Amino acid sequence: MNQAFDVVILGAGAAGLMCAIEAGRRGKRVAVVERAERAGKKILISGGGRCNFTNLHCTPENFLSSNPHFCKSALARYGPADFLALVEKYKIPYHEKTLGQLFCDRSAQDILHLLEEECRLAGVRIFVNTRVKQVRHNAGFEIDAGNVMFSAPALVVATGGLSIPKIGATAFGYELAEQFGLAIRQCRPGLVPLVFDSENQQRYCDLAGVSAEVVTSCGAQRFPEMMLFTHRGLSGPAILQISSYWKWKTDDPVVIDLAPEQAWTSALRAPRARRDLQAARSALRKVLPVRLADRWIEQQTPRDWSNRSLDAREAGIHRWEVNPAGTEGYQKAEVTAGGVDTGELSSKTMESRKLHGLFFIGEVVDVTGHLGGFNFQWAWASGVCAGQAIADTPPIVVRSD
Ligand SMILES: Cc1cc2nc3c(=O)[nH]c(=O)nc-3n(C[C@H](O)[C@H](O)[C@H](O)COP(=O)(O)OP(=O)(O)OC[C@H]3O[C@@H](n4cnc5c(N)ncnc54)[C@H](O)[C@@H]3O)c2cc1C
Repeated sequence: MNQAFDVVILGAGAAGLMCAIEAGRRGKRVAVVERAERAGKKILISGGGRCNFTNLHCTPENFLSSNPHFCKSALARYGPADFLALVEKYKIPYHEKTLGQLFCDRSAQDILHLLEEECRLAGVRIFVNTRVKQVRHNAGFEIDAGNVMFSAPALVVATGGLSIPKIGATAFGYELAEQFGLAIRQCRPGLVPLVFDSENQQRYCDLAGVSAEVVTSCGAQRFPEMMLFTHRGLSGPAILQISSYWKWKTDDPVVIDLAPEQAWTSALRAPRARRDLQAARSALRKVLPVRLADRWIEQQTPRDWSNRSLDAREAGIHRWEVNPAGTEGYQKAEVTAGGVDTGELSSKTMESRKLHGLFFIGEVVDVTGHLGGFNFQWAWASGVCAGQAIADTPPIVVRSD
């Protein structure tokens, strides 16, 4: 069976569905091809099931990319207020959790329903359970999905990243980029828990479940948020955020300020204050969770109680240098950092500079957001830009004479 469309979009995730809506609304015949049994599976598990669908304070500084300027145009064209207008049109109840992060009150299903309904209204056809075997390009694109052959003058690759393979992540988007000669920036798991080396595992892993408000940093980047000990290392928002920067441009360790803006040794320095292990433990318990305080002092008992030694202990708690053995990998990563090199794409339309009609949007592109709704905002914005560009392009007439 051969099906002809104006555009075929590979991947019915956040970016693909948004692109489909924009192109469909403008009268294009749109097919979305999805290998999973339903659209938007990642949307459904996002934000703990409540989908952190955007962030009110979205700026280009919230994104990592080899070209930090690339995301500016799309984010300026389609911002958080635009998606929010859509959410309000559907009367989806939502709330701001913290730091501008907007979540559904009920469930992520509300966002998926919105997207599917908009697709329906725009006449978009979604083909689920459809696995693409091969893509060829002659005058237009031919997409071979076994039983069905799709053809279209425009192809949008919205197949996402490598994270969470068990819900359908594939490397297909990167393979297609390579097939058409586009460069890829090395992929790595982002927004991912870190794993301790064996020494730190022995020291700290029985603290699993203990959390603290910290500041993490790596190079010039810093994040004041919550950190959590796990059975294998560290997690929590402060760690997920900094994980995207670890081993990116530098080999810097992850540095953790365990008691930001607090001077735990000042109690020991007061006139006539006791300076011994017990006094140190109780001073530390005032700035750290009890179990962490006790473990820290056990591990780092000062040799003496001189001011110099206290200075070193004070500094130590504000600059805990962790050299992780690795990350929890794509199984646990919220995103894939790296991807299709932005130098290969137009920042206004997401179209390949090498091949007219070929577009890459969403997570498959080397643009990765911080934690907090930024990755969906990138998916919406890049999807809208490509959808509008496709709709604005006059149809390619393939002449038979
Ligand atoms: C657990 C978790 C929670 C998250 N929570 C949030 C959050 O609250 N807020 C936020 O902003 N971001 C969140 N993210 C990140 C966000 O989900 C992604 O950045 C976003 O979904 C990327 O959209 P996308 O459309 O590019 O890719 P995806 O949403 O991954 O969609 C890609 C689609 O392509 C399909 N596909 C793959 N290969 C093929 C193929 N060969 N043929 C056809 N179809 C294919 C996949 O099945 C999938 O449906 C979360 C991620 C995870 C893993």
